[in-house]
Amino acid sequence: MLADYAVRVETSRGRRFAELQHPYRNDFQRDRDRVIHSRAFRRLEAKTQVFTRRYSDHFRNRLTHTIEVAQIARTIGAQLGLNVQLAEALALAHDIGHPPFGHAGEKALDTVMRRHGLFFDHNLHALRIVEDFELRYAAFRGLNLTFEVREGIIKHSHDYTVAEHPELAEYLLDQRPPLEAQLIDLADEIAYNTADLDDGFEAHLLSLDQVRDGVPELDRFYQEADQKYPEVHDKLKFNEALKRILDGFVSDLIQNTQLQLAQARIKTVDDVRRCGQRLATFSPPIEEQRRKTKAFLYENLYFSSALDPEKNDAEQIVTALFDFWMAHPEDLPQSYQEKAEAEPLARIVCDYIARMTDSFIYDQHQKYCA
Ligand code: MG
Repeated sequence: MLADYAVRVETSRGRRFAELQHPYRNDFQRDRDRVIHSRAFRRLEAKTQVFTRRYSDHFRNRLTHTIEVAQIARTIGAQLGLNVQLAEALALAHDIGHPPFGHAGEKALDTVMRRHGLFFDHNLHALRIVEDFELRYAAFRGLNLTFEVREGIIKHSHDYTVAEHPELAEYLLDQRPPLEAQLIDLADEIAYNTADLDDGFEAHLLSLDQVRDGVPELDRFYQEADQKYPEVHDKLKFNEALKRILDGFVSDLIQNTQLQLAQARIKTVDDVRRCGQRLATFSPPIEEQRRKTKAFLYENLYFSSALDPEKNDAEQIVTALFDFWMAHPEDLPQSYQEKAEAEPLARIVCDYIARMTDSFIYDQHQKYCA
């Protein structure tokens, strides 16, 4: 069933701590299950993706976004003959390092860390979560995930160098990740580019005319839906158009990746790893469509003043709490106070804030900074 260039669980570089094999779940299935049963995964439910609950409780949050990414990744992975269990584990883990308040929270946390000569990066934070913060096993800290899952976490949408991050040297930073990891970046983009058009329209932050003007493919599919179903509500025509956009991205990614694999004569996982560039890519016209859709969303949705209240909260609350705990480390939970003996206090405060849900950080702000 697996293509020759798929990752095979039997050839995994394995876990940090040896464990007995499970009688009927392989190591990638177990890693997927470990991610689902982690606390960090459960907290995604109360973390903002783009819209807070102020708008609606049927918009995406980071958990439902993650489930959409996993669904898209499974479809693409299966069609390409990749290891779907590995792809699913990576998709489910891809956002667990995100702090509260979406990208605004991430930016705020990074800004306060830079004042202490440090920085915040959600991939590195995700690695700390699965390596250290999740306490579920008597024999070791963390989730003891396989190398391939940890590597995929660290290579999500980012290339680190050994010169900058010697601590990551074990992750073969001079090599491309396997296709299972490569496709997660694009499944993520497909999921949020389409979902944010959907939620933005539903939230009345994007008008139908605005989206049809800004995203030509949506306009074309909308016209087709309008001809076929002239009597239905605009939102249903919009849905029809959006589904075709999503399907177009997915189908193009499958076909173009197959083409790239054939052109580069890729036979094995090692060929994928040693290739000069990532092979899971859109064709040039669809890549252009992806880029323009994303630019449209930045200009009209992510940077829209309607979302300013949450962004301002992110900046003020993260900064105030960070400064509070830097001045009053005795008010951190005991386990964090102990960690601060071995690592810079700023890093520990950052770890504590990064794990929080939107609701918990609001409560903490009320408690300490109001
Ligand atoms: Mg994501």
